[in-house]
Amino acid sequence: MTDTLLITITGQDRPGVTTALLEALAPSGFAVLDIEQVVIRGHLVLGLLLSTQDRSDQERQVAMDAVCAAAGSLDLHCQIQPGALEDDGRRHGRLLVTVIGNPLCPAGLGSVAAAIANRGGNIDRIVRVASKPVTALELEVSGADHEPLRQALASVAAESGVDLAVQHSGLGRRGSRLVVMDVDSTLIQDEVIELIAVHAGCEAQVAEVTQRAMRGELDFAESLRERVALLAGTPVESLAQVREQVRLTPGARTLCRTLHQLGNQVALVSGGFHEVVDSIASEIGVSDVRANRLEVADGVLTGRTLGPVIDRAAKASALREFAAAYEVPIDRTVAIGDGANDLDMLAAAGLGIAFNAKPLVRQQAHTAVNVPYLDTVLYLLGITREEIERAQLCP
Ligand SMILES: [Mg+2]
Repeated sequence: MTDTLLITITGQDRPGVTTALLEALAPSGFAVLDIEQVVIRGHLVLGLLLSTQDRSDQERQVAMDAVCAAAGSLDLHCQIQPGALEDDGRRHGRLLVTVIGNPLCPAGLGSVAAAIANRGGNIDRIVRVASKPVTALELEVSGADHEPLRQALASVAAESGVDLAVQHSGLGRRGSRLVVMDVDSTLIQDEVIELIAVHAGCEAQVAEVTQRAMRGELDFAESLRERVALLAGTPVESLAQVREQVRLTPGARTLCRTLHQLGNQVALVSGGFHEVVDSIASEIGVSDVRANRLEVADGVLTGRTLGPVIDRAAKASALREFAAAYEVPIDRTVAIGDGANDLDMLAAAGLGIAFNAKPLVRQQAHTAVNVPYLDTVLYLLGITREEIERAQLCP
């Protein structure tokens, strides 16, 4: 049964092409069911789906002739396929798959497409969200279930080196979010306690304990106690020098500025120390910080911390508390971290992102970013490069 016409126009794009084709079809009065257009390097691909239900063969023929003539006069190729009405059931339950590569190779993208097809999914639409410093695409997928597809794509990501995220599309993606970030090796490139250890002359001992803790071999609270004890006697002035040494991760400022400009909240949760993290936070316009505090007596570190220890469980609690304070539903929270002590926070968030993380963390997080740019996270939230660039121009 011929209820629809799918018209595909391809060729060199120029102003007025869409107008001319739609004008040629106007006398038919056929309803437009769908239209999609993309221009790559000046080459146009336009798909137009029309309903021809209850129309005669002659009416269809007149419309087809008119659109072919219009395309021909513009030197464009026109293909028309009659068909039945689309089964709209396929359009429900859509998922968004974000694909990030640096570079993005055909083989990696092919593995993604195959995994989607193998899980019964169909790619309805592909949109490029960024071309620098990474290539990021957003695939709209129908017909596949979220969790099986997420698991299948996690394997693809591990094998192909492409970063992938699967999210439900729809209104949940809109509105403000709360982004909670780890600090050491996430917001900044350094481990602050190791920088302090250099001043204390116990760099190697501290680094060894840090590595064991981050691999999950050691309870974080215990490792913190061990490492802080090694710092006993360090002059408090060393902390000022450490603040100067800290290097933000590339894209950190862009990430925070864009999130703030678009009305989102950003908070920092760190197993490090207020004495260093607070100044980094104010530099990037963040006022909510949860971290440990170093005890000082007579101008030197005592080798102890003050107050509750911010460990794995405390990081997750902080995320929930910030979400409640900002009245952001948990499914609109995002957590970003790299270490084993971030795992609870990553699991508690609506979207947990392992950022250049240890394998253990990568495997357990909802998704992973393995390119060294923090602003890449924005693509996972559906924010395009153009929007990011516009946000940087705002006062
Ligand atoms: Mg970290």
